[in-house]
Amino acid sequence: MRHFFLLLILPLTLLAHMSIAVSYPYIGAITKSIGGEHIDTVVLAKGNWDPHFVIPRPSLIAKMRSADALIMNGAQLEIGWLPPLINRAANPKTQPNAKSFLNLSQHIELIHKPKDVDRSGGDVHPDGNPHFHLAPENILILAKTIEEFLISLDVEHKEVYEKNYAAFHIEWSKNIELWKNKMAKHEGQKVIQFHDNLAYFNNAYGLKTIGTIEPLPGIPPSSKHTIELIKLINEQKPSCILHDVYHSTKTAEFISEKTGVKIILMPHDIGSLESTQDLKSLFDYLTGALQ
Ligand SMILES: [Zn+2]
Repeated sequence: MRHFFLLLILPLTLLAHMSIAVSYPYIGAITKSIGGEHIDTVVLAKGNWDPHFVIPRPSLIAKMRSADALIMNGAQLEIGWLPPLINRAANPKTQPNAKSFLNLSQHIELIHKPKDVDRSGGDVHPDGNPHFHLAPENILILAKTIEEFLISLDVEHKEVYEKNYAAFHIEWSKNIELWKNKMAKHEGQKVIQFHDNLAYFNNAYGLKTIGTIEPLPGIPPSSKHTIELIKLINEQKPSCILHDVYHSTKTAEFISEKTGVKIILMPHDIGSLESTQDLKSLFDYLTGALQ
């Protein structure tokens, strides 16, 4: 009888993975690369959704309820949707003060911190630009942060996480060199964006955002601002409008008609487009999109 129970318990123990909820697909991909077979990731938002405005559906609450840990982007990117999910799930392991809670933004130097913290203008990014994962160098910092986080939760598999991180670091560093070479010819190029999703990407490769279709982050286009932007484009001749996949391209098309500037869709996460199904293909796409 005792053997029977042992046989029953053993496979259950082997299957006992840590289930880690993450807000966005890119976090899931890094976490899986480092955690390997010892973890399962539960990705809350889809890559083709607007990362600022996720609907806290009941299915997401259920996912949060069964998680052993939570990793978020932070810098207020999830401010509109993750806090309500955390509250409703009432899971002690995914509360901001838990040791199983990780806010990635606290490990990255944010850029574009507004000088004026008054939010009356509607700026959705009062802590600085939160789209830091689109600089390939930052992915290495995030991977290291996640490695240390996983070790803090599961020291038993420390060596596995260290080994996985080392392998990730070697592979990703090779890619960084390839992407740098690919993007060298675009250095100094002026671009327009809808929203400054690519602040860190553009910094990494010397692209210069001279204007956004939004008058302020999170504020929809206005005719006054669009007219000013058309004037700016005619004066400064940017090479293109880099547009996210989740906002309507209607205003961009209008601007394109008036100025001849072309529109290029830029995915912001894994799954934003059919062809960007992992972290490498996301950056392969981004670094190959400009002409
Ligand atoms: Zn944003």
